[in-house]
Order: sequence, then C-alpha cells, then structure tokens
Amino acid sequence: MTPIEVDCLLLGATIVTMDAGRRIIENGALAVRGETIHWLGPQAEMPDFTAKKTLNVSDMVITPGLVNTHGHWAMTLFRGFADDDNLEGWLEKIWKVEAEIVAPDTVIAGADLAMIEMIRSGTTCATDMYWQFDGSVEAVVQAGFRTVNGPVFAAIPGFEDRRQFNLEEAHDYLRRHANQPLLHLCVQAHSVYTTDRPMLEDVRRIAHDFGIGFITHAAESKGELAQVSAQYGKSPIEVLDDCGLLGPKTLLAHCVHLTDAEIARLAETGTSVSHCPTSNMKLSSGISRLVDMTRAGVNVAIGTDGPASNNDLNFFHEAQLAALVQKGVTGDPFVLPAPEVFAMMTVNGARAFGLSDKIGSLEVGKLADLAVIDFSSANLTPCYDIYSHLVYAASPADVRHTMIHGRLVMEDREVRTIDEERVKHDVRKIADRARPLFTCRHAH
Ligand SMILES: [Zn+2]
Repeated sequence: MTPIEVDCLLLGATIVTMDAGRRIIENGALAVRGETIHWLGPQAEMPDFTAKKTLNVSDMVITPGLVNTHGHWAMTLFRGFADDDNLEGWLEKIWKVEAEIVAPDTVIAGADLAMIEMIRSGTTCATDMYWQFDGSVEAVVQAGFRTVNGPVFAAIPGFEDRRQFNLEEAHDYLRRHANQPLLHLCVQAHSVYTTDRPMLEDVRRIAHDFGIGFITHAAESKGELAQVSAQYGKSPIEVLDDCGLLGPKTLLAHCVHLTDAEIARLAETGTSVSHCPTSNMKLSSGISRLVDMTRAGVNVAIGTDGPASNNDLNFFHEAQLAALVQKGVTGDPFVLPAPEVFAMMTVNGARAFGLSDKIGSLEVGKLADLAVIDFSSANLTPCYDIYSHLVYAASPADVRHTMIHGRLVMEDREVRTIDEERVKHDVRKIADRARPLFTCRHAH
C-alpha cells in the first residue's frame, strides 16, 4: 500500500487527548495534515505514513494547546508598573500611562511580547481585550497565533476619541476581519461600569446579527458593585441579564462577587466564566466562588488577565493557583482535582469561546493546536499521575514544542514565528518612555 502523506508526525509520546472519554494514549503517535489532526493512537497501530517532518517525542507528553480566556496582551508594556493597589487605583495609573504610550506600533510590540510568552507556556489560543488596531490582527497572523478578538465598547474619560467604537465602526471591523482562520471574532464591552445602557444594547445587537460571542468584565470588585448599584440600582450580572447579554455565547471575566441566585442564573443561561485568581488576589478584589460555580454547572475556564495585574502569562501557575486557593479557603482538599483543573485549561476554554468543535481536545479532524511537554525534566520526575504534574509541577520551561493550526510556532524552545530579540529590544525602548510616569514605592 502507498504510504499516506502527512505534514508532521509526532512519535513516541504519551497523548493526553481530553476527548469525551478522557483517553490517555501511551507510546502514542499523532499525525498532522494541513491544519488538522489526521490520525492519533498507539504507535504500534499507526498506518504507513510519509511525513515532511518527524519529531521524536518519547519521554514527552502531548496535550491540547492551552486556552487562555482572559487578557489584555499589550499590557506586557506595563508589567510591574502598578503593583500594590486595588482595581480602582490600578486603573487610574494604567489609564494615565496608556494615554501616553498606546499607539498602533506600541500595541503591536506589546502583543508580540505577549504571544511569545504564551507560546512558550504552551498556550495556543487566547483572547485579547485592548485597543483595536488592524496592526494587532496583522501581528496575530504573522505570529501564527490563534485569537478570539473583536471591537471593544467602553466610554473611559479622556479616551473617547480612541477607545470607543460606534456601531458602524464595529460592523466595518467585523466585516473586514471575517474569514481569517486564526481570528475568531467576538464583540466586547469593557464592563457595565464603563459603558451605558445604549452601548450594551448595541453590543447585544452586534452579537446577535453576526452570531458571535460576547466578552466583558463582570462582578470583579466591591468598588465595581457599588458603582453599578449607584448607576442602575442593580448588580452587574443583573444589568447584563436585563440587556439580554447572558447566554451560551457570553464569557464573563472574574465573577468574584456573585450571589447564589446569580450563580444559578449563569448556569441556567449557559454563560461561561473566566476565572483569574492571580489578578483577583493581587488587586485584593477577592476570592471567587469557583467551587460553587462548578458545582452549579457553570462552565468555568481560566484566564491570566493582563500582565499589568498578574504580572506574567504563565498559564500553569494560574491553574495551580486556581486549585490551591480553593482548597485553602474551602478547607476541603478534595475540591478541584487536577483532571478537573486541566479541563478548565483546555476543553472548558474552548467551550467558553464557542470553539468546542475545533480546539480544546486532541481528536481526528480537530485543528492541530497542541503543546509538547518534556516530562524528563527534574521537576516532573518521577510521574505517577500526568494530570497532577500538569497542574501542580509543570512550568513553561518544560514546554518543548508548540503547534498552532498545524504549524510549529515553537520548536525545541525556539519561537519560530516572532523575532524575540527584536521584540524585547522594541519593548525596552517603549518602557523608557513610560518610565517617567512610574512611581516606585520601593527603595532601590
Ligand atoms: Zn481584564
């Protein structure tokens, strides 16, 4: 029989599929053809393939690419700029420096830096809520990264000219960027407290007309709850519900402060939540009722939030923290076992983005978005339980290869699609311009 031609063959790995049966394949092989997974299974049962590229990945684990469900990429430019403050104080400092620094070229440099960090940590798909410039979409295409992105609606004092989308501009943006394989469109509102009712109505109309998802921040801090209560006499979740903005295509970042009724409503409407524990703790926003949400049946995924409130995009650390904090505060070590947390890092993220049929698990016909993790590392030796290591012991340094849409964007720890040295050089120069606004409270 003539061998089947494929583009890339990965041989000898343990494959954590995250499929419905949560199958783990030992001594596995995975074949990629074009942008999709053509075959996977035990290597002994592999058909005869000829591959343009073959990678020996024994001693390694192939997982679905990790899915980061909340972030503001170009905030890499402001990493460590505004520590030790609450959300409201932090926003004030960040909005001030953004007014000086944000421009099409700086956003691209910041986004490139974020994508490098994410690719290095095995993240293959992430959302970005930031200034909308065509250049950042161009950067995504160049980097070969997968993103969920779209116009952001917000009215922030001093930013009206640049940040606020109107209906017409949003339509134009969505039409211009349709049919990009790596860009999955959505519509976003910064939050209930930085928008008004007509703006939220516009957002709902756009989501409905284009059949796309909706992303916003909600119920993040007590300050936000007070502000929204003063404005509407309701909670942020109630306002969104009134506007018809809860549902299976809605993804809410944070959801730290929820009532029992709101948790039940999120479950009932199929609304997803992006849990961002580092940011919530760093800004003292509070600790989310993650266990209550998962028990109620809410689809919860994980997000790093922006690197100005984290301060990195280490997705393994984020997941580990999600599990540990809940075990600590509930006093129940049985909550959030590692397989459940790894689902939050992969399949739940895909579902939150409405991309369950395309990414999140390794299955024939799905897009080839995957991470290859070196389990011969000292910190992963020995191994009794793969999920345990993926949640509690792995770090970005263990990720050897990252593939997105069938393309190796990192091979042997070298990011192939972005010039890392150039990007770091550019970002340092941008930081020199931000530095005069930095008020460091620590003694040097
Ligand atoms: Zn955010």
